[in-house]
Amino acid sequence: MNLVARAGRAVLDTLLPPHCLACDAPVAQDGQFCLPCFRAANLISAPFCARCGVPLPFGDATGLCTACHNTPPLFRAARAALRYDDMTKRLILPFKYADRPELARGIAVLMARAGSTLLARADVLLPVPLHRARLRQRGYNQSVLLAAELARATNRPLLRDVLIRAKPTIPLGGLGLAARQAALADAIAIHPDRAALIQRKTALLIDDVMTSGATANACAAVLLAAGAAHVEILTAARVADPRYE
Ligand SMILES: [Zn+2]
Ligand SMILES: [Zn+2]
Repeated sequence: MNLVARAGRAVLDTLLPPHCLACDAPVAQDGQFCLPCFRAANLISAPFCARCGVPLPFGDATGLCTACHNTPPLFRAARAALRYDDMTKRLILPFKYADRPELARGIAVLMARAGSTLLARADVLLPVPLHRARLRQRGYNQSVLLAAELARATNRPLLRDVLIRAKPTIPLGGLGLAARQAALADAIAIHPDRAALIQRKTALLIDDVMTSGATANACAAVLLAAGAAHVEILTAARVADPRYE
């Protein structure tokens, strides 16, 4: 879609009544599902791992998954609004690949609900960076759009260029955790002139989908090394771990 068409669509979106996040049915407010889609949507609710947020079959608010128990991640907490299943893909994939940036607002509403505790204690919000080759190809970084919506809604500073993707990473799907970490090891860096902005701050990373947590961990490593006090991550969706289903 070209810029004019995109602008036209943005105007239409403000004139037309809000519609369901996953289909064209009208709803009362942005960020809502229609009733059939709501029944099909897999919003993440307790119990989940207190650290990484992965859905667990049972447990309490302080329970950890086995992975976090054995090797705690570098980030203090991760939360997500939706399980990354077929229904969620109908929402996330058009947002990510099909030139539908206007979906950010509704998705951010779901994220604000799931991540209210994280947003309340965050000093600054940072989108997970996209390499510029990928950015050129896609036209926008979906994480920046989500982070901008959340920053506006919560009145937090948005630090969009503190983290940088120093080199393009190969697609991580299908790789084990160790291979993912190796692929990411020096892919993410901090902008040398911007490190002061995160000193002693609680930094909240924003991304669309969390898979293994390797990207979140790589960003957390860089931010903590540069002086951040804590790093947390809020995503629209996360892949559930089959071991805990
Ligand atoms: Zn619907
Ligand atoms: Zn965990």
